[in-house]
Amino acid sequence: MSGEVGDLIIKWSGQEYVISGLVETDTVADLKDAVFKKTNVLPERQKLLGLKIKGKLPDKEIQLSTLQIKPKTKIMMMGTREEELAKVTEPPAVMPDVINDFDIEEDEIAIENREEFLAKIEKRIKDYEIKILNEPREGKRLLVLDIDYTLFDHRSVAETPAELMRPYLHDFLKAAYLYYDIVIWSATGMKWIETKMNGLGVSSHKDYKICFYLDSDAMISVHTPKYGLIDVKPLGVIWGKYKQWSAANTIMFDDIRRNFIMNPQTGLRIRPFRKAHFNRDKDSELLKLMWYLEDITCEKDFSVLNHKDWEK
Ligand SMILES: [Mg+2]
Repeated sequence: MSGEVGDLIIKWSGQEYVISGLVETDTVADLKDAVFKKTNVLPERQKLLGLKIKGKLPDKEIQLSTLQIKPKTKIMMMGTREEELAKVTEPPAVMPDVINDFDIEEDEIAIENREEFLAKIEKRIKDYEIKILNEPREGKRLLVLDIDYTLFDHRSVAETPAELMRPYLHDFLKAAYLYYDIVIWSATGMKWIETKMNGLGVSSHKDYKICFYLDSDAMISVHTPKYGLIDVKPLGVIWGKYKQWSAANTIMFDDIRRNFIMNPQTGLRIRPFRKAHFNRDKDSELLKLMWYLEDITCEKDFSVLNHKDWEK
């Protein structure tokens, strides 16, 4: 006769589920079945963190008695229900093998590596259509720019967009264009982006060209402990479509840091440009950013840079 394991507590997605009735001769596969009944996360999607499993036996060959689980042990689980995954991607024909990373805590799995968010990026790569305005040029790096509060004060009142333009905008874009193809990515709709870029004279400038615009439809929503549910701009969408660009040769400017949470190393948070009428004569952020862009062009691999120190 085998002893009872006692209640186990599965922590998943902010909730706790009590699993009871298991005995020591039950296996990890039995445990996962029990977890499935409570959470609807398929066993092959479950990643149970904190179990002391030695070796790489299949789940159904690992008896719970070998794991030295104490009653009321809390086990962190990662995994996504099929219906949630189905919302963002078609399920793969073959389920990938889930590796049990038993020694890592949930918090250590960075947002940018989460399976469910990467699936959303894949979906954007497949479904989001980019309208090329000017073909990418060979050998150029990639500069991705936010609009609101980055290039333009979208809250102040004015007669024309030009009045709300950040100082040095055209000088900045002209200098950047020597080394970078330029992409504009705004969390608004395409109509607004075009209106603003036309109004600022960016779309028709003779000294530089914009490669393409991305709008809010190219963004994905992610859930983070710090911010809750937020929409972000994952550069993986561009990198998936244009293989010449990657973290090694891309830089993104935005006044909101969480916008580049899926590629934290590639983003540079700039000071927002607000109160245009008041700050027009004082703001020199784009001038300084222009110098920074020129400085880093001698670096072959941007992924070694720490943009937080950009002003030094
Ligand atoms: Mg902004």
